[in-house]
Amino acid sequence: MTAMTKITHHLTDALLMGYAAGALPEAFNLVIAAHVSLCDECRARLGSFEALGGAVLEDADAEAALADDSFAATLARIAARPAEAPGPAPKPGLFPTPLQDYVGGDLAAVKWRGFGTGVRQAILPTSSAATVRLLCIPGGVAVPDHGHRGLELTLVLQGAFRDEDGRFGPGDVEVAGEEMEHTPVAEAGEDCICLAATDAPLRFKSLLPRLAQPFLRI
Ligand code: ZN
Ligand code: ZN
Repeated sequence: MTAMTKITHHLTDALLMGYAAGALPEAFNLVIAAHVSLCDECRARLGSFEALGGAVLEDADAEAALADDSFAATLARIAARPAEAPGPAPKPGLFPTPLQDYVGGDLAAVKWRGFGTGVRQAILPTSSAATVRLLCIPGGVAVPDHGHRGLELTLVLQGAFRDEDGRFGPGDVEVAGEEMEHTPVAEAGEDCICLAATDAPLRFKSLLPRLAQPFLRI
């Protein structure tokens, strides 16, 4: 992503803490890693949570060593610590490095499927606790109006969309919870390409998307 506009929509502390603790499903981890790789502000906040988490783990290690000096228990604690992420080497292209690693390339490597109204998607393979997909929404087109049963994280990679919460441009991430109902509309012009993770099926208001839901796994 070049000529980055200023990021105005960020991850919540709860998500960054969950990520630092290794407590989130793989699908959310990918969206968070991709945003963090683009956003100095969230990277700094994540760093402080990781430091905090490390300190807590060290305390727990010390207590465990005092209470029970089982070598296996200590090893298990060390193994449970989230892996240190190496500094990403910048790769040219649209996709942030964590996403390129996942897709095995950039935009050209994506196998899109039609979705109706010109919207295309590509579901990325992850553990089944949550689903992550790339979405390509033609300029001016709306994603059907929907609510959420769980959490939806949407990171914009190209173009922009607007919904009830404002404008989301490249690098921005929208955190939509159960209380939110929205109709994202891609801005006229460029296709809007997003990376979106959900941990529960969306609730579409109209019948047609509802019928298609099981097939689209949205
Ligand atoms: Zn951020
Ligand atoms: Zn949504």
